[in-house]
Order: sequence, then structure tokens, then C-alpha cells
Amino acid sequence: MATIVDSVAEPPLEEAERTDLVGLSRAEMTAAFAALGLSPFRAKQVWHWIYHHGVREFSAMSTLARDLRRRLDERFVISRPQVASEQTAADRTRKWLVSFSDRNLAEAVHIPEEDRGAVCLSSQVGCTLTCRFCHTGKQRLVRNLTPAEIVGQFMVARDSYGEWPSSHEPRRLTHIVMMGMGEPLYNYDNVAQALRIIMDEEGINVSRRRITLSTAGVVPEIPRVGAELGVQLAISLHAVTDELRDRIVPLNRKYPIAELLDACRAYPAARNSRRITFEYVMLRGVNDSPADARELTRLIRGIPAKINLIPFNPWPGAPFECSGNRAIAAFAEIVNRAGYSSPVRTPRGRDILAACGQLRTASERERRRA
Ligand code: SAH
Repeated sequence: MATIVDSVAEPPLEEAERTDLVGLSRAEMTAAFAALGLSPFRAKQVWHWIYHHGVREFSAMSTLARDLRRRLDERFVISRPQVASEQTAADRTRKWLVSFSDRNLAEAVHIPEEDRGAVCLSSQVGCTLTCRFCHTGKQRLVRNLTPAEIVGQFMVARDSYGEWPSSHEPRRLTHIVMMGMGEPLYNYDNVAQALRIIMDEEGINVSRRRITLSTAGVVPEIPRVGAELGVQLAISLHAVTDELRDRIVPLNRKYPIAELLDACRAYPAARNSRRITFEYVMLRGVNDSPADARELTRLIRGIPAKINLIPFNPWPGAPFECSGNRAIAAFAEIVNRAGYSSPVRTPRGRDILAACGQLRTASERERRRA
């Protein structure tokens, strides 16, 4: 028994004119439904179908009357990025090259661990930062990704592992890291909207405690991340002097180390015993000396922190080499003795160029082919 408001007739829209429901905030989806005379309850039901059950067709929404499903189908779409390729590395790291409606490409990676797994999402096609050690940084910025395209990457990962509905247990895709291509804080609004959708408890429902946003240090946006999203923060530090950081992370010329660390000290979540992660890429003979390690611990004193040491992942023509194992161990030891956990991030998925800073080759090659 359809209600009267559910059955007002309008002509169907052309495919391209239909509104994509993916990427709308809850309020926007409710408003889009209201514009058709549909109640907030209908929006809530559809939200649940899209983000809890992961359905891609209105026809699968079996709690809705057939008439209503047809009407929704005539006005709206539920988008998914296309998977241009999916590769699984020897260590089970999986990488998706996803293709958007304008044929731009981005990469998402799943990094499995024993009892959990993080999905690494991209926020931009290309990047503006030109960090010297990063392969993505050599690809110019093409454009920001939309909320639908960011959420879509995670939905593709869930499709791939069959992890719908959201209550599916056990889950392999437990965590999310915004550490793929791009600088998330140069696309703040879209990233924030995407993360709010992902955190919604009646949908994808990944808790903010399991989401880490990594930035090279766009200082003015950091307070909003804490106040509006409350996710975990990671900082790509990589150097302990402005002189060196200016060179390898050029964004430092705009926001130098002292300002960046002040923003970290003020980060609200840092107080509730939630630590900020500092990422530090190990570059042989560049930033990996015992003196660098001691200076690092001095700089971050007072910040609840953990230091993630990332062995440099080489790429063809890279102007750096990875530090030796002994240098990395000695560095970790100094940081550790100062009271900070200092895990060395095992490179994952190097054989499919899915490791940090390697997301570029496949997407560029694919684009040239297209
Ligand atoms: N722009 C954001 C998101 C990228 S995160 C940021 O800078 O934080 C990806 C992480 O991998 C960053 O810490 C980045 O500095 C690091 N990285 C980039 N290239 C790398 C490489 N070749 N080897 C190891 N780590 C790298």
C-alpha cells in the first residue's frame, strides 16, 4: 500500500540527468527525496540499502513498493567507479585501479594483516605537492575527487571481498587510511563529506577511531579535522630541519615544522590519549642519522605520538635510496628509548607497485593506453 505522496507521477529523466545518490550527505539525500514528495523515511531506507547492504540497483530494494523502485530508478542513479584492473600481490595486498565517469583513474589499496586490514584511499587524481621521494608527486594534479568517488573506492573494496552488509563478520576491511594519491587537506570539503558518509552508523559504519587521515602538513586545515571529523591524524614529517624539509617536502616552505607541530599539539584528539602518527620515510644518508633521530624526539616532546618509519620504496629514476637495515634499526631504537613506539612499516605490495609513493605507474600507463 503505497502512500499518496509516493505515487505522484513525473516523466523519467535521461540517464545523464539523474542525480547520483552516492556522495550526497544524509541531509542532501533527504532534500532530494523531499523534492519528489518523498518522506525522510524513504531516504533513510534507501540510504540503508546503498550503504549497509551495498546494493547497486533500486530493483533490489525489496522493502520498497515496486512502483516506488521504478520511480527512483527514473530519477536517480547509484554510482560505482569502474574497476579498470584488480591485482593481488604475493603478500595478499590488493590494488584496484578505478576509473571514473570522465575516464580519470585513481588507485586504492587493501593492506591485509592478521586480524584486520586497512584500505588506503585516494583523494585526488595526481597531486600538487611534488614531494621529492614520492612517485605520485611526479604526476601533476588533474583534479579533486568527489565525495562519491572517494566513498566509491571503499565500496569497490567491499564488493571485491564480498563484505556487504556492513554488519558482515569477520571483516577484513576494518580500517581506512587516507594515504593514497593526493593531499586530502587540499580537497577538504569532499574528503570530509566522504568520511561522514563512511562513518554513518546506519551505513558503512567505520568508526572515526579506525580512520586515519594523513597530511603533508596543510596547517590551516588541521584544526577542522579534529573539530569536525575527529579521525586519527598522521603527519608526513620526513625531516627534522626546515632546511631539509623545504627541499624534500616543498609544502614546508609555506608551513614550516614549528607551525606544523603547534597544530599537532593543539589537535583535540591528541589529548584523549589518542596518538598522532608521524610518518618518516627512511632515505639513506639524507635523514637517517642517529642525530636526526634524537632531534626528532626533541621536536615532538609533549605530543602523544607514534613514529611510523617507512623504508623508502624505490621507483624508476628515483633520486634516493632506502636506508640500510642497521640504520633503520638504530634510528628506531633511539626513538623507542625516548618513549615513542616506532614500528618500521614493512613494505607491502611492492611487486604490484602498491606501496607508499608508488601509486602512479599503472594509472598513467592505463591513461596513455586509453
Ligand atoms: N599527501 C598525504 C597523503 C599521502 S600518504 C601525505 O603526504 O601525507 C602517503 C605516505 O607515503 C606519505 O607519508 C608519503 O610521504 C609517503 N611516501 C611517499 N612516497 C614514498 C616512497 N617512495 N617511499 C615511502 N614512503 C613514501
